[in-house]
Amino acid sequence: MSLEGLNGESNGVEHANGRPSAERAPRFLEMLEERRYFDCPYCMTRISTVIDLGGGRNQSFTEDCEVCCRPIAIHVAIREEGIVGFLAEPES
Ligand SMILES: [Zn+2]
Repeated sequence: MSLEGLNGESNGVEHANGRPSAERAPRFLEMLEERRYFDCPYCMTRISTVIDLGGGRNQSFTEDCEVCCRPIAIHVAIREEGIVGFLAEPES
C-alpha cells in the first residue's frame, strides 16, 4: 500500500522538468540589445540610444535628440564581443 503512494509522487517530479528551457529565452533576448550613452553633437547633452546587436555588423541610423529634437546620424560597428565602434554626428 505504502509503495504505491511513493511511485505516484516520483511521477509528479518528472513532469516538472520541462520548465527550465522556457526560462532561458527572455535572458537571451536581453543580451541582443545594449544601451549606449553619448553627447548630442548639437546641444552637448548626454543622451542614450538602444543598439540592436543582432541588426548587423555595421549599422547606420538616425535618432532625434530627446532634448533639442535635431536629427543625429549614428554609426555603430559590432563584432562577436559587442560594440567596437560608435560615432554620433550631425546629420547633413
Ligand atoms: Zn541635442
